[in-house]
Amino acid sequence: MADATDARPGLELLAANRSVVGGTEVVRHLPKRTHRTVGPWCFADHFGPDDVATDPMTVGPHPHIGLQTVTWLYAGEVRHTDSLGSDQVIRPGQLNLMTAGKGVAHAEQSPPDATGELHGMQLWVAQPDATRWGSPAFEHHAELPRAELPGADVTVMVGSIAGSPGARSAARADSPTVGLDVGLRGRVELPLDPAFEHGVLVVDAPVAVDGQVVEPGTTAYLPPGRASVTLDGDARAMVLGGAPFEAEILMSWNFVARTRDEVDDAHAAWAEVVADGGGSERFGEVRSPLGLVPAPPR
Ligand code: MN
Repeated sequence: MADATDARPGLELLAANRSVVGGTEVVRHLPKRTHRTVGPWCFADHFGPDDVATDPMTVGPHPHIGLQTVTWLYAGEVRHTDSLGSDQVIRPGQLNLMTAGKGVAHAEQSPPDATGELHGMQLWVAQPDATRWGSPAFEHHAELPRAELPGADVTVMVGSIAGSPGARSAARADSPTVGLDVGLRGRVELPLDPAFEHGVLVVDAPVAVDGQVVEPGTTAYLPPGRASVTLDGDARAMVLGGAPFEAEILMSWNFVARTRDEVDDAHAAWAEVVADGGGSERFGEVRSPLGLVPAPPR
């Protein structure tokens, strides 16, 4: 079974992977069998839009290691609480970035007074060896650099637009990374860093990527060596990329690691938290009215 479908040379189309999780439609853009990572990006779920009155977000405290969670909303609000004591509501156009390092726990829920739609992208960035055993951290960026290019409004979530180092996001990046939200209203030639590989995630309407029509849910993969890509449409897209990641990662549930032993240790440590209730040295404690999320059977 192949993820990739026929595409023009230099462009690889990674097919949509749709599922319904608790009443919410989720499109998994990453990982794909042929591309476990694009740069350091190792997970990308597009969720919603959903009516928050019937499908509120209620994700109880759960752990992470070895990754950064990057939350981006198109509509609605989510309240993030974590074991560092962070308590932050995120809104469209803002960025929540949590670094797990050796261990963190967090919960995400719709505020009780939330109405309307909830719609967004949940992304993970794999941490390099240099930082993945480090301390957890949390950042909220209410303001991000924006660029108005001919044919597109671009918000720089992480990194910068190639050739425009002035408009660099203040969001932490542990390895060379780019993350752009692209609001297309025509045709744009988006500069790229040739040292990076990229994925163009097509969100809500077809986008012509270098002239090839890409349907929503599909990711167009661009190998390193590209100085630009042409996007054309009336649509929302996300461009994720970075230097090809330094290592092959092992992903298990909410953990990003390198070896089976590392994953087993993390599972055992969280199982102890779930069994005992309360907190732990590794994952801390999240103040949340929601119950702890146990790992699924392995
Ligand atoms: Mn999480």
